[in-house]
Amino acid sequence: MSKPDLTHLTRRRFLQVAAYGLALGNAGLAAAAGRRATAPFFRTRGVVLTPDDLTLPGWPKRARMAGLTTLALHAPHSPRRLADYMRSAPGRKFLAACRRHGLAVEYELHAMQDLLPREYFDRAPKMFRMDEKGQRVRDGNLCVHSAPGMQIVADNAVALAQTLRPTTGRYFYWGDDGCAWCRCPQCNGLSDSDQALLVANRILEALRKVDARAQVAHLAYHNTLPPPRKVKPEAGIFLEYAPIHRRYDAPFEQSDDAQTRREFELLDANLAVFDRTTAQVLEYWLDASLFSKWKKPAVKVPFLPQVLAADLNTYGRRGIRHVTSFGVYLDAEYVSRHGEPPLQEYGEQLCRWTPGK
Ligand SMILES: [Zn+2]
Repeated sequence: MSKPDLTHLTRRRFLQVAAYGLALGNAGLAAAAGRRATAPFFRTRGVVLTPDDLTLPGWPKRARMAGLTTLALHAPHSPRRLADYMRSAPGRKFLAACRRHGLAVEYELHAMQDLLPREYFDRAPKMFRMDEKGQRVRDGNLCVHSAPGMQIVADNAVALAQTLRPTTGRYFYWGDDGCAWCRCPQCNGLSDSDQALLVANRILEALRKVDARAQVAHLAYHNTLPPPRKVKPEAGIFLEYAPIHRRYDAPFEQSDDAQTRREFELLDANLAVFDRTTAQVLEYWLDASLFSKWKKPAVKVPFLPQVLAADLNTYGRRGIRHVTSFGVYLDAEYVSRHGEPPLQEYGEQLCRWTPGK
């Protein structure tokens, strides 16, 4: 059997290679590619879903056929609920299918509400964040200068990792979605990004005791999109860059939309702080939920292959080798309304991109 060259694939050849990977099961495409100097530049080629999206049959098989390496499950609110799902029969079936198809599994979590359980507020409000008015508040994140609060977060991150254990060693424990961080007198000199990184550093230290290869994401997104200025990432922290406020009707780098420009400029600002070789992009090219304004029924994803191609140049030429996209709402209902999502085109472009282009 000839070894596949993954850098110069016609579509037909690509599908043959993907089928070859499937036929080999766990020793499939990734292993075949790994024997070659011409392995795809992008090492992580992923889609991020919620358990609800698994109503679409065969997501792992679809991902493998598209040449992807990774499926991640997203908990928009409650990592504990996602952990319950992973222990259930459908969750175990999903993990078994990912193993069969040689796919890595990761968990991408807005986590602080669960890592510091909100029921602690009544007896220990100082563990919780202070708002702009000087009040301790129950909702969202925590006070990063509370030693007991940080200890509980670290302990619960380790406990949750018993169930939500990524096959890659890459952990994603984010701040609560869109939520400000602490404004108490001690925290006030630290930006939201600094505070989020302080927590990621602490979680990394705790996880390393149970998983020696653990890496932890620092999410640059919305209020944490500007890079941290005062806190430094420990070795093992990687940048995860998620430009949720950009537009998708033109290549990222060429957009004349002011907000898109700002998001783009903060990519390089973050790459000046974090190691670019471990950095990961969390994009929205396939995110039906974003294009539907997070309300069902889902609209058809306005996928533009030329935008993806240009965006891969933007990321790849900067040395970023880990690329994922949300694919939330790409479920059975989506396919019955709109037909197949553009997963093949997405995976094909990710597989064949090379720095020389
Ligand atoms: Zn504080």
